[in-house]
Amino acid sequence: MNLSHIEHIGIAVKSLETAIPYYEEVLGLKCYNVEEVVEQKVKTAFFMVGQTKIELLESTDPEGPIGKFIAKKGEGVHHLAFAVKDLEGALVDAEGKGVQLIDKTPRGGAEGLSIAFLHPKSTMGVLTELCEDKNK
Ligand code: ZN
Repeated sequence: MNLSHIEHIGIAVKSLETAIPYYEEVLGLKCYNVEEVVEQKVKTAFFMVGQTKIELLESTDPEGPIGKFIAKKGEGVHHLAFAVKDLEGALVDAEGKGVQLIDKTPRGGAEGLSIAFLHPKSTMGVLTELCEDKNK
């Protein structure tokens, strides 16, 4: 597959209200977007570092994926997202090489990206997201 850069790093937090001031006041980044992704049961906040984003994820429901992650592992790095050209092709390629896919076909993510996740069982424990920006 053809990866261009790390699109974002997803970080699970208990509270955006608590986490955003750390990223802004200590790290000196600017939160440029807060968005709720209803189907994922999360509220997200975005910061830009070079061409990579930090995506903070606060659960809106204890039964959602981030709610369960925090209950099990606590706050911390949740996933790594790579920008890829031809997401459909990348998924076919990964599956052909024996990687277990969470999403067999791309779906809509935050910020209008097409996204799909690879299963951490196949990626040495790193939940891996592939994203394609179809507007580029
Ligand atoms: Zn993500």
